[in-house]
Amino acid sequence: KKLTSAQVRQMFIDFFKEKGHSVEPSASLVPFEDPSLLWINSGVATLKKYFDGRIIPENPRIVNAQKSIRTNDIEIVGKTARHHTFFEMLGNFSIGDYFKEEAIIWSWEFLTSDQWIGFDKEKLSVTVHPEDHEAYKLWIEKVGVPEERIIRLEGNFWDIGEGPSGPNSEIFYDRGPSYGNDPKDPELYPGGENERYLEIWNLVFSQFNHNADGTYTPLPKKNIDTGMGLERMVSVIQDAKTNFDTDLFLPIIKETEKLANAPYNNGNEAVDTAYKVVVDHIRTVAFAIGDGALPSNEGRGYVLRRLLRRAVRFAKTIGIEKPFMHTLVPVVGAIMEDFYPEVNEKKAFIQRVIRTEEERFHETLHEGLVILSEIMKKAKENNEQTITGKDVFRLYDTYGFPVDLTEEYVEEEGLHIHREEFEKEMEAQRNRARAARQESASMGVQEDVFGDLKTPSMFVGYEYTETTSTINV
Ligand code: ATP
Ligand code: MG
Ligand code: MG
Ligand code: MG
Repeated sequence: KKLTSAQVRQMFIDFFKEKGHSVEPSASLVPFEDPSLLWINSGVATLKKYFDGRIIPENPRIVNAQKSIRTNDIEIVGKTARHHTFFEMLGNFSIGDYFKEEAIIWSWEFLTSDQWIGFDKEKLSVTVHPEDHEAYKLWIEKVGVPEERIIRLEGNFWDIGEGPSGPNSEIFYDRGPSYGNDPKDPELYPGGENERYLEIWNLVFSQFNHNADGTYTPLPKKNIDTGMGLERMVSVIQDAKTNFDTDLFLPIIKETEKLANAPYNNGNEAVDTAYKVVVDHIRTVAFAIGDGALPSNEGRGYVLRRLLRRAVRFAKTIGIEKPFMHTLVPVVGAIMEDFYPEVNEKKAFIQRVIRTEEERFHETLHEGLVILSEIMKKAKENNEQTITGKDVFRLYDTYGFPVDLTEEYVEEEGLHIHREEFEKEMEAQRNRARAARQESASMGVQEDVFGDLKTPSMFVGYEYTETTSTINV
């Protein structure tokens, strides 16, 4: 059955509507009244108000398709088949209503019933927490998953510190031996780092309260929180090799090809990665700007800046040397229009912001790259493996090279950067700025010349625990 991405999204919503769920509209990527999050990074992130009891929903059963941004996967985006910085999470939720049994049975019904997705049951396996005998039993008795396709994994526990927590159970689709069949690969199992067993759906059973003293007590009202990756589902349904080879991305790739000097999917991995990075990042940046974020040197703005720069850098691999990302916005808007009209509606504004940012970057990029290649050349001549923190700092400070970008360039040449030294340089700069601030304050100068201009907060890793804590890079 070849469904379009729009049909899959709609089917998920319709299925859970039939099971008595109310539809919650997709919320802004910029968290509302939630300083603990940099971006909305999952379907549940916008529903915390219900989970923590601040608001009692009219209907305790909720379904949504939520745009999400995750930056913890940024390094591997474009390299794996399945990771994005922007993606959609489809989810069903129970706020103290149904629990494990319904969640498990319905997930299976949606995936395998011919009326719905109609996946071959043999292709699916599930993971459970080793102590979650309840879920294990349900998968066997209510659903009929054979024991050999139920894997017990210690990591299957959802915990963000104080607050609701509990075991989870994930569903994997076996894409077949052409996606990995090395019997010696220690990661080749559902839940391992491999492309064969594709994680499509995570069911979280929040049944404990993680107390301040570190103990766990059962929650009086247990919750369900699930998340399914739309792009991954669509890749399986459309029999596409990667998420990028689906109707969600191919039109953007086509548009990019018009500007490039090498076609997509022509047997060159570096070229394909470049396309994937570009089309991934443009979606993220376009949607984020549409939701009110703007490129800057810190927090969310820094993430956008870094994504744009990363895309520009990869685009060079396919011969694109001029600002171009803004030309992709209309096609992103068109693909998503039916469910997310916002990119289309704000197209002109989004394009203007991206274009300005790209132009600025191009100006400094060229100069910076000349300097960096000289630095690397010298290092190689002197048989050195490591680029000093001072040099990395200079690129950062003068040419606006985020440290991770420099690191990516440097590692491509088989070299490393001295991160500790770089951090020390950063610290020294912060101290200088602080001293300057104090001085100017004591002189009665109001203006904060140095400010936080050069202290971007690092995009942070998280699963459900992303915070705005500023780890300075
Ligand atoms: P993975 O192990 O593949 O990184 P995850 O366990 O971090 O995924 P969850 O936090 O369980 O992901 O999110 C629920 C679902 O959202 C996943 O099962 C997957 O289908 C999808 N998903 C998660 N991260 C991404 C991503 N970076 N890009 C695309 N889809 C994702
Ligand atoms: Mg996972
Ligand atoms: Mg998961
Ligand atoms: Mg992950």
